[in-house]
Amino acid sequence: MKKVSYTFSTQTTDYYFDGAFANLGELVDKTHTVLITDENIFAAHKRKFEGWDCIVLKPGEEFKVQATVNSIIEQLIAFKADRKTYVVGIGGGVITDLTGFVASTYMRGLRFGFVPTTILAMVDASIGGKNGIDVGLYKNLVGIIRQPSFLLYDVSLLKSLPNTEWINGFAEIIKHSCIKDLRLFKELEQHKLTHYKKDPAALKKLIRRNAVIKSDVVKHDEFETGERKLLNFGHTLGHAIENMYELSHGQAISIGMTVACGLSSVLTGFTETARVVKVLRQYGLPTYAEYDKKKAFQILQMDKKKDIDNMNFVLLKKIGKAVVHPIPLAELEKVFS
Ligand code: ADP
Ligand code: ZN
Repeated sequence: MKKVSYTFSTQTTDYYFDGAFANLGELVDKTHTVLITDENIFAAHKRKFEGWDCIVLKPGEEFKVQATVNSIIEQLIAFKADRKTYVVGIGGGVITDLTGFVASTYMRGLRFGFVPTTILAMVDASIGGKNGIDVGLYKNLVGIIRQPSFLLYDVSLLKSLPNTEWINGFAEIIKHSCIKDLRLFKELEQHKLTHYKKDPAALKKLIRRNAVIKSDVVKHDEFETGERKLLNFGHTLGHAIENMYELSHGQAISIGMTVACGLSSVLTGFTETARVVKVLRQYGLPTYAEYDKKKAFQILQMDKKKDIDNMNFVLLKKIGKAVVHPIPLAELEKVFS
């Protein structure tokens, strides 16, 4: 298998973009490895899991909580996992977050890798080492930054992925194009989801290009003191309304990106909101919502991107060029009233 390696501050991650699940045995020792996945993925790909020790979790963001962490730890103990054990998360963002979080803390840290099974996990969640859990309405409030040893890509796993999850992942792809890559944005403008669903070569290329965008940003700023903040485009408001209304992550950040474009047109002179909205709609994403603005503002204030009196909002200058723009909380409150 061909690999591409990224060296982050304390860890190198090997990316196998042309991999297959069947190659997993070349990367880890089957007898000292525990796989973590969820019921949907396990049911759709049962035969692939034969002969591996597996922890199979209930699917869904509502299980990305401490109670699930405790349950995983108990099952690791039952499998007699020790410091030689490899933990591999096979799933979407919920599974990769839980796996990275538990593997980083169990016995002060085991080696771990991921086989992402959603578009979102392939281009975003599995990359960059942020692994955490939700607490009440606060998403990813508790977590760590620690890089996986490997990412094994197998696009054939996406055959069983529901359409709504494809749409979800494309929200992050559109985000990447908006903040970093005008050419990618133009490519997306020319197609629809069906193009990528029908053409595995185009899909592989798209996933790799997006994984590289995210990895480059993380490599330059692993601990989010600068450039990495740009990846939060659409996420400040997005996270606030996601759990409030049980929106999918993609839907929530799509609305968040639309609102951020609107703020950009006032604060940075951005003129292309309509073009961004058109692409989001083209890929099945919502761009407008009625929401409880007061409550959203309350949740927003707990956001990790806040300093004392300012909210650091990611805005666009142009398509492909984002900036972090501090907005005084008092000013922002007006937008949310
Ligand atoms: P993400 O955070 O990447 O959107 P989740 O972990 O919440 O992903 O997964 C989204 C949903 O898709 C879950 O219900 C999960 O069980 C399901 N799922 C993930 N990958 C696959 C797949 N390859 N085939 C079928 N269902 C999948
Ligand atoms: Zn996101």
